[in-house]
Amino acid sequence: MSSAIATLFLSSLVLFSVVSALEVDFTYHRFPQMTNVLRQLNREYPEMTKLYSVGKSVQGRDLWVMLVTRDPDDEPLLKPNIKYIANMHGNEPVGRELMLHLLQHLLSNYGSDSYVTWLLDNTRIHIMPSMNPDGFEVAQEGECSGVQGRGNANNVDLNRNFPDYFAGPSKAPTQPETRAVMDWIKKTQFVLSGNFHGGALVASYPFDNIPANSPRNFRIVGSPSQTPDDDVFRHLAEVYSFNHKNMYVGVTCRDGSPPFPNGTTNGAAWYSLIGGMQDYNYVWASCMEITLEISCCKYPRHHLLPQFWTDNKNAILQYLGEVHRGVWGQVKDSNNNPISNATVKVMGRDFGFKTTDRGEYWRVLRPGTYTLQVEARGYDSLEIPVKVTKGVTIQNITLNPQTGTYHEPHNEQPAYQGYPSISPSQQENSGTSLRGLWPTYRNLLKQPKEAVIFPRLSYGVNYRQQPSHPLLNYNIHG
Ligand SMILES: [Zn+2]
Repeated sequence: MSSAIATLFLSSLVLFSVVSALEVDFTYHRFPQMTNVLRQLNREYPEMTKLYSVGKSVQGRDLWVMLVTRDPDDEPLLKPNIKYIANMHGNEPVGRELMLHLLQHLLSNYGSDSYVTWLLDNTRIHIMPSMNPDGFEVAQEGECSGVQGRGNANNVDLNRNFPDYFAGPSKAPTQPETRAVMDWIKKTQFVLSGNFHGGALVASYPFDNIPANSPRNFRIVGSPSQTPDDDVFRHLAEVYSFNHKNMYVGVTCRDGSPPFPNGTTNGAAWYSLIGGMQDYNYVWASCMEITLEISCCKYPRHHLLPQFWTDNKNAILQYLGEVHRGVWGQVKDSNNNPISNATVKVMGRDFGFKTTDRGEYWRVLRPGTYTLQVEARGYDSLEIPVKVTKGVTIQNITLNPQTGTYHEPHNEQPAYQGYPSISPSQQENSGTSLRGLWPTYRNLLKQPKEAVIFPRLSYGVNYRQQPSHPLLNYNIHG
């Protein structure tokens, strides 16, 4: 073959692969293949996507994120950011593949499917198909319950590596993958998030950990550890489970393991863990994150992937729309200038959130009447009643210049009501209701200020490779 013909042949191959990018195969994509899919989608839909990396794994693989939205370079006021993260455990890769299919679905249906069009017009959706690309590379297809590839290349379980609200910093050094995600969510105010795992079929929500002074048997048998946003989390988890083909049935993956009523569970009620990502998102990033366990087998054979996509597709799409609930708004001064870094808190739900540089805030809430407590340096504090309807209620807030002495935001003990102290066995009888829980919330707080005040720092990326420090106690579930 002459070199001219060879060049022609090669360029037609390249052309062909670009055209065929729309059809993501139902197979497991190794890292270079996954990267190619993302790049091709990005090339095909430059007006709808932005491909970026938030850092690198221990072995230097990019932690890719695809932003999908109409006009990704444009950030209209109050357009919320949401995220999906998959494959945090390298040997649980179903979510990784579903994320690629989700990207293709969103992009190819924009303009024809009214829900998808609405979603992308009004939402900034960030998708990280793999948080643990190194672990995936050593995991084995068909391995349903092992741990090979669960940790990163330092053999650290990333879902035990975040600072913990109840227990403090992780004992293992913060891994590059964990650090990258922490920096990412510090930089972007995410409102809602889902984290895909495998090894069970359930939607799990915070808290995953329990207070250090809980009775010892609570850690052993599992006991609910309720957040003050429990109603919202239960709703979010049910949106996923009831839109899934069969998660809501409460399928038991293993003989003898108890079913999950409605296919949902409080994290700690299943089993408690320290250093998980969903608690971190909720406490430190003002982001409502739940954990989605979507396959009984951690790494099922690839021929089953079409079924997983069919089973999860509606749930994945519906959950994204849940960000469009609750109260949003902008905090401004009397001259109409936005106030950044103001603290907004829903009374009785003492994990506050901070306004962005443009004074924006978002909070997912169920319909009802609430009181917003707003504080900012140099301004009088304000309490505002707000009636939240089914969709989004916009509540803009104007603060007046300080007339009295400024007080730092309160660090009072949270006023969370209802502390019946009951035993774990009583709780088992409470069925799907999570009323009457162990009062986790009273037993605060290691870092109340950081917990309430979300730091919005400008940041320099500095990913250091950490020495190996394997975790000893793997929990083999999701
Ligand atoms: Zn997992």
